[in-house]
Amino acid sequence: MAKKQFKAESKRLLDLMINSIYTNKEIFLREIISNASDAIDKLCYLSLTDENVGMSRDDFKIRVELDKENRTITVIDNGIGMDKAEAENNLGIIAKSGSNQFKQDLDSEEEAAEDVSIIGQFGVGFYSAFMVSQKVTVETRKYGEEMGVKWESSGVDGYTVKEIEKPEVGTRVIMHLKEDTDEEVFSSYLEVWKIKALIKKYSDYVRWPIEMDVEHQERKETGEVDDQGNPKYEYEMVTATETMNSMVPIWQRSKAEVSDEDCAEWYKEKFHEQKDPIVTLRVNAEGTISYKAMLFVPGQEPMDRFSEDKKAGITLYSNGVMIMEKCPDLVHEYFDFVKGVVDSPDLSLNISREILQHTRQLHVIGNSLEKKIKSELMKMMNDDRPKYQQFFRSFGVDIKAGICDEYGRYKDFLKDLLIFYTSEEHQVTLQEYVDNMPESQQKIYYASSDSVRHAMDLPQCEEVRARGYEIIYLDLAIDQMVLEQLRDHDGKTFCNVMTDDLGFDTEEDKKAAEEQNEENKELLDYLKESLGERVAKVRLTNKLVSKPSALSTEGPITLEMERYFRASPSEEMQKIRAVRVLEINANHHAFEAIKEAYEADDKEKAANYVKILAAAAELVSGVELQEPGEFVSLISDLL
Ligand code: ADP
Repeated sequence: MAKKQFKAESKRLLDLMINSIYTNKEIFLREIISNASDAIDKLCYLSLTDENVGMSRDDFKIRVELDKENRTITVIDNGIGMDKAEAENNLGIIAKSGSNQFKQDLDSEEEAAEDVSIIGQFGVGFYSAFMVSQKVTVETRKYGEEMGVKWESSGVDGYTVKEIEKPEVGTRVIMHLKEDTDEEVFSSYLEVWKIKALIKKYSDYVRWPIEMDVEHQERKETGEVDDQGNPKYEYEMVTATETMNSMVPIWQRSKAEVSDEDCAEWYKEKFHEQKDPIVTLRVNAEGTISYKAMLFVPGQEPMDRFSEDKKAGITLYSNGVMIMEKCPDLVHEYFDFVKGVVDSPDLSLNISREILQHTRQLHVIGNSLEKKIKSELMKMMNDDRPKYQQFFRSFGVDIKAGICDEYGRYKDFLKDLLIFYTSEEHQVTLQEYVDNMPESQQKIYYASSDSVRHAMDLPQCEEVRARGYEIIYLDLAIDQMVLEQLRDHDGKTFCNVMTDDLGFDTEEDKKAAEEQNEENKELLDYLKESLGERVAKVRLTNKLVSKPSALSTEGPITLEMERYFRASPSEEMQKIRAVRVLEINANHHAFEAIKEAYEADDKEKAANYVKILAAAAELVSGVELQEPGEFVSLISDLL
């Protein structure tokens, strides 16, 4: 029989498939099963209006047969089948959306042909069988036709097609596996366990049963008894047909059928989680784009938060067929902690990872899911604050990173989800903070250190608290960036108690302070000199209530940022330092003592005292003590 030639573009695709070094070859089974499932869908649909079909829903099935001797995997369906023209057209040319896109890509970019990794990114359907097969035989008979068709191809040199007798309607795709090589063991696809695992992984929720013959041992009484009079058994291998897939996914079932506890159990099994989810969200959306979703917020922070594996936890299904295990483009990175599934019949199976990013449907679904996730979190925040605080301890940092991401593009959407410490126990939203402000308060005050406790201890906080104003205590380096990104809330600007003007001083106060500094210029210059590079400036202040000294900074880099940069892997970044200013409480007796010593010409004493004040300020600001040895001897001399 003369071989017919594939169309040119199909040839190139086929060539790629045959010579593919793509590692994820196992997807071929998903593709072939998914075609079988579609074919059954079509005949099932027809049976609703055409009683001659003579089949009911329960009759439809897909069968997978493994033949080790002949090295074949056969996928059999009793779906609509193909006639001769269809077999030639459907299997002989690239006709469908994804494949068409593939072809365009090949045309436009020569290198694409070299880049075999592209293969896995497209649902290239039927051709994927050639990644594992040296020959593919399709025997099919269309519903309503007398005769069947046999289509066969061993690759690029073409295919043959002829009529055959085929008693039943439907299609058999027989894949003759390639020989094993040193790198690849195609025989593994002949193992029941392997195929079972692939079906579970990729096609578990295909609506039609996927059956396979499975051997197992069965215990049989021999009729004899042992010494104690117990019956003796023997074991024999029996073969039984088993359904490999669960068919009805949990997210397709109604809330009445499946409790939240059932969902939690499923979640723990599917995502290997130990704790129950803190949020379970079930969505059944109908409209221009319909989808069902079952999403979870984990009850605990992932151990391996930064591993690539952990990224994006939402699996995408289309009509029960998995298209992508972790879809990175559905929700933004700030919601990457959300796990679950989204199933939409409106997503075409033939779309690739690349194209997925740009599909409008995906965007629409993602947007609506994000709103739902946010509103569920807001609900928890309002109804159960301790639980929300627990959530925020695990994933607050994701929200904060989201606010800083892309120059604050998502800040308006995310900022309502933020909570901040106003004491070690209490966390409030920015709105709650503002609502709680006394009338006289103009700014939102914050203090940052490496812990809430340390931030509370900062000397600069005293005056703010003395006025009855709350302070937001920040304990992570990213917190400050978040506030910088937000700039203000409800018209109130943020004020860093360590660096910014607290807004309490009148113009006169400021002038007086300037004069005070001017009057003591000689002394202050001397003190700065004795501290060397440790600080950039020494200044008198009236804003410290009971503490003698404090450290503040000038310019854009704060102590918190310095700490953040120091932890960065880049050596350049590690060198970044804040411009430190030692502020001395002008009304404190410590300053009086310094001044007295200086004026009595005991300059060394004045220098020693200021070194103690500098160390005290460093300690209380949570930065590294610059001269620990010197500090200890100064203190012991003093004692
Ligand atoms: P896609 O499934 O995306 O359309 P494929 O390359 O997988 O692309 O299949 C091409 C076409 O071949 C299908 O659209 C279908 O018409 C036909 N086909 C493939 N497998 C079967 C089958 N088992 N039964 C009936 N038709 C099939």
